[in-house]
Amino acid sequence: MIKRTLLLTLVLTATASVLAAQGNADFHREIPPFKVAGNLYWVGTADLSVYLINTPQGNILINSDFQEDLPLIKKNIDKLGFKYSDTKIILASHAHNDHDAGVGIMKKETGAKLMIMDADVASTEATGNGRPGAKVDRVLHDGDTVELGGSKLVAHLTPGHTKGCTTWTMVVDDNGKKLNAVIIGSANVNAGTYLVGNKDYPQIADDYMKTFKVLKSLPCDLFLGAHGNNFGLLAKLPKMKPGSPNPLIDPAGYKAYVADREAAFTKELERQKKNPGSPAA
Ligand SMILES: [Zn+2]
Repeated sequence: MIKRTLLLTLVLTATASVLAAQGNADFHREIPPFKVAGNLYWVGTADLSVYLINTPQGNILINSDFQEDLPLIKKNIDKLGFKYSDTKIILASHAHNDHDAGVGIMKKETGAKLMIMDADVASTEATGNGRPGAKVDRVLHDGDTVELGGSKLVAHLTPGHTKGCTTWTMVVDDNGKKLNAVIIGSANVNAGTYLVGNKDYPQIADDYMKTFKVLKSLPCDLFLGAHGNNFGLLAKLPKMKPGSPNPLIDPAGYKAYVADREAAFTKELERQKKNPGSPAA
């Protein structure tokens, strides 16, 4: 009986650590790639975004996801009729493994230029903890633009989640209709984050406040993010039908999401002020 209990404990512990490493089940789950609007496409997994911007001079990819997701991303690019080898520029939402651990491999395989917000460059180039590291070719600053083949993206510094967390915007031409796309870098406070007394990131709370100000100022038609679950991707996908309105055009959803994340942040900040030394759960 003791042996069985011990075995069960070991199995449960192992399962818990595997689950923690995998995040949620949708992280590595395959879904068919699809057009968001105009020349902007989703080639990521069921939850982790990889955006492809197709231009006459090659493609831009935003994010790589984990290294293990790369075969799936390449397959999705193929399925849409594009070529992975046409990737000219690689960008990222922020320097966390679920979005950028594979960017170095992508860069090696395609010869594309990696462009990263200044305050995330050190994390992008660092190795360890499942990160192979990647040399940054162009250091971006708040408000910088990235242009290729007539498409222009703007890098908005939205710090807090990471120091160089980046919200990407672009005006998408969708059959002559101009749509403002906003790809939120992150507005979430992860478990384990100290908003008060954070020695590695003393200005973290002020940075989050700056981020909410920026997000509230951006005009948004196409509401997008680093994770599909940020903007209800899996609920919206079945509504994407020819002849029906594009469910990803959701300015009200964007406003509500930003307001909800700001309220969650403010609540957590107040809680930590009252409970010093207790990180976000
Ligand atoms: Zn993150």
